[in-house]
Amino acid sequence: MARYNDAVCKLCRREGEKLFLKGERCLSDKCAVEKRNYPPGEHGRRRRVKQSEYGIHLREKQKLRRTYGLLERQFSNYFELADKKKGITGENLLMMLEMRLDSVVQRLGFASSKSSARQIVRHGHITVNDRKVNIPSFQVKPGQVVAVKEKSKKLEAIKNSLEAVEHRGIPQWLDLDKDNMKGTVMDVPTREDITSPINEQLIVEYYSR
Ligand code: SF4
Repeated sequence: MARYNDAVCKLCRREGEKLFLKGERCLSDKCAVEKRNYPPGEHGRRRRVKQSEYGIHLREKQKLRRTYGLLERQFSNYFELADKKKGITGENLLMMLEMRLDSVVQRLGFASSKSSARQIVRHGHITVNDRKVNIPSFQVKPGQVVAVKEKSKKLEAIKNSLEAVEHRGIPQWLDLDKDNMKGTVMDVPTREDITSPINEQLIVEYYSR
C-alpha cells in the first residue's frame, strides 16, 4: 500500500479525534478537529451511522496506526512481534511503537511531529550512543543516549522544536539534556506513561478475528 500523501488533518477528522500529527498546530485553535469535528468529504456532516463491532475494532487499529504513520504491513508486523513477546499483547504493541527511534526523537522534542522526526532520523541528524542511526524504526533500549549530531545542532527546525518542548512536556521515562540536545532513555514506558486515548484491547480483538 502507498504512503498517505493527503492532508493529515483529514485523518484526525476521520477518527473524530486529535492524533497530533502536525506538531504545534495541534495544540492551537487552528486544529481542524477543533474547527470542523466531522469526517471529511461531501457527506461528512451527515449524522454518523452506528458502527458495527468490526468497525469499532477497525477504527481503533487505524487510529493507532495513523498516530505512528505506519503502513498496514508494518503495523501488522508489530502486532505479530508483540503477540510473540511475553506479557500483555496490547501493551507490548504500545511499548514497541513508543520505543521506535522516530517516536523517541519526537518525545524528546527534537521534532514537533512524528513525520518530521522520521525525516530528521532519515537525514542522518540523530545518533544513538554516539553512532549515527538513520532508521526510524530502530528500537531504542533503556540506557541508550539519543542525541542530535554535532553538525545538526544549528538546524532551525530542531532548535525551534526544542524551544517548545516545555509546552509539550517530556515523558518521565526520558531524561532530556536540552542544552546539549541529547536525551537518555531511562526505562521502558509503562502503560500509564502512554497517555493517548487508545483502547489496545480492541486492536488485539481486531487481529484475533
Ligand atoms: Fe490532527 Fe493536529 Fe491537524 Fe488537529 S492540527 S487535526 S490534531 S493533525
